[in-house]
Amino acid sequence: MRPSPLKYPGGPMTDWITPPTDGGERLDGTGAALLTADRILTGRRGDAAGSLESIGEDDPQGGAVFIDGTRIIAVGPAAELTARLGELATAAGTAPAQVRRVDLPGTTLMPGLIETHAHLPTSGTDVEYPDYGAHDVARLTLNAARSARELMSLGVTSAQSLGARHYVDVALRDAIENGDLRGPRITAAGPQITVTAGHAHHAGGEADGLDEIRHQVRIHHKRGVDTIKAMATGGFTTSGSVPWLAQFSQEELTVMFADAHRLGKWTAAHAHGTQGIERAVRAGVDYIAHASFISPAARSEPDPHLADEIAAAGIYVDCTITAELPRMIERDDTFAPPVRMLWEHGVKIVAGHDAGIPGVPNRGYVGGLEALEYVGLPRTEVLLAATSRAAAGIGLAGVTGVLAPDFDADLIAVAGDPRDGLGVLRDLRLVVSRGREFIPDRVPGLAHDTDLDAFAGPGSVLGQWRNRDVLRARHPEV
Ligand SMILES: [Zn+2]
Repeated sequence: MRPSPLKYPGGPMTDWITPPTDGGERLDGTGAALLTADRILTGRRGDAAGSLESIGEDDPQGGAVFIDGTRIIAVGPAAELTARLGELATAAGTAPAQVRRVDLPGTTLMPGLIETHAHLPTSGTDVEYPDYGAHDVARLTLNAARSARELMSLGVTSAQSLGARHYVDVALRDAIENGDLRGPRITAAGPQITVTAGHAHHAGGEADGLDEIRHQVRIHHKRGVDTIKAMATGGFTTSGSVPWLAQFSQEELTVMFADAHRLGKWTAAHAHGTQGIERAVRAGVDYIAHASFISPAARSEPDPHLADEIAAAGIYVDCTITAELPRMIERDDTFAPPVRMLWEHGVKIVAGHDAGIPGVPNRGYVGGLEALEYVGLPRTEVLLAATSRAAAGIGLAGVTGVLAPDFDADLIAVAGDPRDGLGVLRDLRLVVSRGREFIPDRVPGLAHDTDLDAFAGPGSVLGQWRNRDVLRARHPEV
């Protein structure tokens, strides 16, 4: 009998035919490496008020980070880590000569950026929006894979997905974890939990009453989400929902978050209106998206006492300050999330942009940080909001967002010092996700000249509502 050409186990059929492609990455997620730069911003606060911890600025060689595989082992002045190289290499189970060197003069090494509010299955144009519409699951999945690469190409190494139909974000998270795709570390919420016909009901997470809410939370748990996201108020992008009114009762939200916490989940609430913000806070939520304090008068009317309550509860807040928001506020200030007021009251602001909804492409991330500074958050606070505080704000405290021993090696190098201007965050010289370099794709620049007048922002929805009051006031008492 002729011998079979197939060998089992192993052999030609199961071995890789082509060796892994060398994409030019300087770091592949294995082995030891020493990275140096002019300075290291660790993602921690500095000793002086309003400063950031910086390492290596007094050292002519700059600062250095020693990584082993996917993890950071040491951070310090470059001269110090170079002197300790033998010891560090031994701890990493290798010889000093085997330690890879990546020297990045003229740059700042800092934690990878974090998007705390992403909608991965859509692109930020209205082409596929809503993702909750009649869109094929296959297309949404491919969009999400593209979003993951786009975000990584901007230096975003972690992202919280706050709403994705068909649990596309859970599948994407797992594919990235498995190494099937490159992308940021993802914490996934799956479909937002909302009331019947409520905001984003197309995503498929409708629930009414306590039992249905518990059931939805448990279904989400079964499907593998990290975060339970509630639509605590209506929103602007679902017709028939009212942004300033709460959707769930106090008891419903309390039950939802309690059950989520029982299952070890992070919790987030979409809340524009003051009533919904208040209920989410009292229900024990971890994270609030928007916090635009829309009142029944259909305009932002910030409540300082509620800000104090949010701060005291330690809740993280993204005000979805997008790159275009300053221009929208200039045109119509009725929708103006009170970032400065919240921060002054001690609220922990994080950098979440609602990336993926119409008018908010992923590539506007750095523009969103600049807008956050423009609306009143000091630059150092913006940098914390985009790194260490963002990590804590999405349930990843102690894992990422800080350059310190035992944190994951998620970091970027940028040309210049972001403390002198956030624009340098666009000039990436290195992107590393869990110890492996990512070579950014070419991401088209954000077109600042897009026709904003043709874009119906939140103000137009609020204006229509206020107009009804104007008409009613004209009517005689009858
Ligand atoms: Zn959102």
